[in-house]
Amino acid sequence: MMTDILYRYKNQVYFNITNKCPCSCTFCIRNTGDSVGEASNLWFEHEPSLEEIFKAIEEYDFNGCTEVVFCGYGEPTMALENLKAVSEYMRARYPYKIRLNTNGLSDLIHKRSTAEEICAAVDCVSISLNMPDAKSYTEVVRPAYGEKAFDAMLKFAVDCKKHLEDVRFTVVDVIGEENVRKSQELADSLGIPLRVRAYSK
Ligand code: SF4
Repeated sequence: MMTDILYRYKNQVYFNITNKCPCSCTFCIRNTGDSVGEASNLWFEHEPSLEEIFKAIEEYDFNGCTEVVFCGYGEPTMALENLKAVSEYMRARYPYKIRLNTNGLSDLIHKRSTAEEICAAVDCVSISLNMPDAKSYTEVVRPAYGEKAFDAMLKFAVDCKKHLEDVRFTVVDVIGEENVRKSQELADSLGIPLRVRAYSK
């Protein structure tokens, strides 16, 4: 089956550049199905090379697109060098805003601070806060790094805010009103907007 590197949802074109992720979120779409939007299949037989991503971009009809989003069936920062190269390639050709949807664990993945280079490569960073405290976050996200992942994610968000105006947290409404309220308080305390998304399966 053909694997979609690019797929569209409304006016956004999503870039699926890796299937790798150091987490195993209980709600992850990776656990619930193999398609989203117009994409037919997002599982790669092998991780796409830069050349394959460039080719997919060249062949794609971006007509009507307003924003491109690094997202997909994995954590985009697992393919950080490709992400930066693809962003440069897009900026040289198209005027679209570039957003990164991330679990915010890039610093742990790469064992160094990555906020500055990531913020140079995209126009918006949307970080999955998921839960308002380390314990419940760890239970839901099940990161390979254990409980230290929560603080690392928060630090990454604060670091991003130093380099980029458009940084936001997201939670999904299924976590319940109490957790949404606590998430809002946490986001407010860090000066980062929170977007509460409706859960769709
Ligand atoms: S961080 Fe994203 S890709 Fe990774 S397991 Fe969680 S929802 Fe899935």
